Amino acid sequence: MRRRNLAVVLGAVAAHGPLSRADVAGRVGLTRAAVSSLVDELIGRGAVTEAAATVRGRVGRPGRALTVCDEGPAGLGLEIGVTHLGACVTDLRGEPRIWRRVERPNAGRPAGRVLAEAAALGAEVEAEAEALGLSVAGRLLAVPGVVPNRPGGLVERAPNLGWSGVRLADHWPDPDTVPEPENEANLGALAEYWNAGRSEETFVHVSAETGIGAALVIDGRLFRGARGFAGELGHLPVRPDGPDCACGARGCLEQYAGEAAVLREAGLPPHGSPAGGPTGTGPGDAVALLAVRAAAGHAPTLRALDRAGRALGLALTSAVDLIDPDGLVLGGAYAELADWLLPSVRAELAARVTVRPWAPEALRPSVLGRRGPLLGAALTTVRRIMADPTLLPAG
Ligand SMILES: [Zn+2]
Repeated sequence: MRRRNLAVVLGAVAAHGPLSRADVAGRVGLTRAAVSSLVDELIGRGAVTEAAATVRGRVGRPGRALTVCDEGPAGLGLEIGVTHLGACVTDLRGEPRIWRRVERPNAGRPAGRVLAEAAALGAEVEAEAEALGLSVAGRLLAVPGVVPNRPGGLVERAPNLGWSGVRLADHWPDPDTVPEPENEANLGALAEYWNAGRSEETFVHVSAETGIGAALVIDGRLFRGARGFAGELGHLPVRPDGPDCACGARGCLEQYAGEAAVLREAGLPPHGSPAGGPTGTGPGDAVALLAVRAAAGHAPTLRALDRAGRALGLALTSAVDLIDPDGLVLGGAYAELADWLLPSVRAELAARVTVRPWAPEALRPSVLGRRGPLLGAALTTVRRIMADPTLLPAG
């Protein structure tokens, strides 16, 4: 009960602060004495701070201003992509305070090497956070792979990295900072849900980096499936007699809307051009290159994106008919290509989703795009603390 009340008070301060103690009591429907005791505990645990400045409460005299700490507890997110590493620290207000992305060709390199580099980046960023007065209270690692539900820090498969059965603790140099792995598509969807202030409670978030990942948020909760393998939209068949797929089947969505397939159709080299694009995140950024070509009216690129959009629309029709979502979100790299993907995805949905009214605006690009998974990894810790402030050590 107290744990729940701590979360309620912290939630009120986060959503409406700065607030006086009286104001908090008015908002959460508890007595002033009860709220004061809860506030004292939240201050002791480093979640809330009480400034000398005053705010006028709903009742009585002005009180001192309570706000969520921008120092103290923080979440660390790490990301291993096929071509990069990332690290992010968010404070308890959910604000990203440190953001780092370094290009690294991670595909096919030994998992131990990649994890050691990710750990070094994490340690560097944690030291930086400490200098800002932040202390990391939890660590998550976004990976482009399958992470089973059972605990143990296992990445079951990450085909685009060449990983299979990688247990993070076996490779992480510092046993005290081993992060919890989570699928990048799931984290991207959660970040979108938490951060974008949208009203959709049930939605499908489809994202593309090298592979295609989907995540289902149902009634505000991530749906992970019986084993944690839900959301493998990339291997949904869109043409039973289509081209062979690396997964062993044929005609999978990835063969039409995956990065490699789109680049091939557009007549571009597999990893973009060495020069990259002017809006790119680095040399060889294939997505930026596609966007530049499409914006310039390059016919093969436009055809490739139209074909990808139609295949995506076909696959998403199945998702719509199965789970009846409020919305569909194109995330990751798809968000940057949305101008060219949305028309054909919408056309396909309009033609196929016929049993219920389907509004074209129910399909939208994500707000966070390729930033989603890393932000989601850092925010997961923040959300856990907000839901249960007793996770923080008592002061
Ligand atoms: Zn496949």
